[in-house]
Amino acid sequence: MSYLGEDIPKLGFGMMRLPQLEEGGTDIEQVKEMVDVFMAAGLTYFDTARAYEGSEDAIRQAVVERYPRDSFQIATKAAAWAGAKSIEDIEEMFETSLKTLGVDYVDFYLLHNIGNDRTQFFDKYDMWGFVEKQKELGRVKHIGFSMHDVSDVLEKALQDHPSMEFVQLQVNWSDWNAGGVQARECMEVAQKYGVPVVIMEPVRGGTLADPPHGVAEIFANATPKMPPAEWALRFCWNLPNVLTVLSGMSTLEQVQQNVESYKRFQPLTDAEMEVYAAAQEAMATAVAVPCTSCKYCMKVCPMGINIAGIFAAVNRKSQFSFRQGQFWYGFMTREAKGSDCIKCGQCVMACPQHINVVEEVAKAVELFEDPSLEPVGPS
Ligand code: SF4
Ligand code: SF4
Repeated sequence: MSYLGEDIPKLGFGMMRLPQLEEGGTDIEQVKEMVDVFMAAGLTYFDTARAYEGSEDAIRQAVVERYPRDSFQIATKAAAWAGAKSIEDIEEMFETSLKTLGVDYVDFYLLHNIGNDRTQFFDKYDMWGFVEKQKELGRVKHIGFSMHDVSDVLEKALQDHPSMEFVQLQVNWSDWNAGGVQARECMEVAQKYGVPVVIMEPVRGGTLADPPHGVAEIFANATPKMPPAEWALRFCWNLPNVLTVLSGMSTLEQVQQNVESYKRFQPLTDAEMEVYAAAQEAMATAVAVPCTSCKYCMKVCPMGINIAGIFAAVNRKSQFSFRQGQFWYGFMTREAKGSDCIKCGQCVMACPQHINVVEEVAKAVELFEDPSLEPVGPS
């Protein structure tokens, strides 16, 4: 099915984590090989961003300079919250992207990661109006935005900015019913507004390729030869209203595996949907704190602590890795740390799940605010 007048295959090449040379810099020769395998399979969509170091340059060398311009699509993004101080900075970001990519238009241009306190920067410099203008000028074919936030934020953005033609959302079987991302609700909102979705994080940064043991076992029992990464992609390919599904690929082998998975994809059966339901349940029982992210506690916390976010971080640690938990904790406590807790106990009174919030927050502080920890970025 085509969207926005574009017939785009449902596997897109996420170019955030490209192979690196030992001496530093992107391994362009390997990227060329990866691109060739991808294009030979009839796949055409490349996703990058100003923020992905070396990625726009790699696309120019591996794609733009080697294939006819009408044989592929490029999506790139700019983040007004990342250093923009004027509309001139927004213009400069766009011009630099075009120049680095070596193109005179991009197919898809996105406001990068709206939500939380970041949206105000896109408003302040009217980046929304800027992208509309670029579309009128024919320098962008389609305009949209990306976000990792909840469905209310998505709905408000689509109401406020009806010119947005598509959205890029974090969707995967694990986040489908999860409080922090609300993948299912976000997909429903996008469909309600008639806006197709580019799915990102279908394998959740690679973590669903190697899920907790109990979850891996469920997939292995259902189909011994199908790796969990393929289960993750198939869940997204099966969804309606999807423009494409991005998979961040870092090696030639990953491209080959994804291409093979894509070729053999068949719509999911009821029995397979039950496998996902069992995996979601197993994933949920791998949680350390049974927080439902209702945020009742946060409404009464005098210190403005993101308690639900802190527990999401603790659960990421138990479901995936310490590193993921630590990164998420840092992200969720930018405004108030767990250690700002004054132990007033109001949150404990408010929690319908009977969680001893004070105790659990203190445990999280002990885990993630240890001064000897090395800082981490997204994994
Ligand atoms: S005990 Fe701590 S976390 Fe709970 S409401 Fe009071 S300050 Fe907030
Ligand atoms: S009230 Fe309880 S369940 Fe709700 S967000 Fe707070 S800790 Fe989680």
